[in-house]
Amino acid sequence: MSAATVDTLVDDETSALSMVSIAAHDYQLQMQAYALAVRLLLPSLTDSTMVNVTLHFLEPNIEFRLPEKLMKPKACSDALDAAMAEIVSSLQPEHFPAKPSSHCRMCSFLGICKAGREYVVQGQ
Ligand code: SF4
Repeated sequence: MSAATVDTLVDDETSALSMVSIAAHDYQLQMQAYALAVRLLLPSLTDSTMVNVTLHFLEPNIEFRLPEKLMKPKACSDALDAAMAEIVSSLQPEHFPAKPSSHCRMCSFLGICKAGREYVVQGQ
């Protein structure tokens, strides 16, 4: 295998991991909400019982888990409380800035979202 091919593979892998990391960050709160929901559905779990939530990306085939400290019951409930407080205290559209990323290509709102369209056009 030539060095250029190895570099290309490394670049592709680094890019894929970077994209997975960004996507996983977007799902952090959802993963914490799922962990709390499991605890509510299974009251026999103690606070010291570790609940894992796994994001499994099919292409590339990568699994992602949040660090253990973010999956503890208090961390999950604090994150949800903070998100709820942010939502209820945000009244204007400018409080919800668009966060364009690769997921814009699959977004149902792309047709009406200027930021998403600009991102997709720039990425071509
Ligand atoms: S197109 Fe707009 S609304 Fe959709 S994910 Fe992108 S930034 Fe968000």
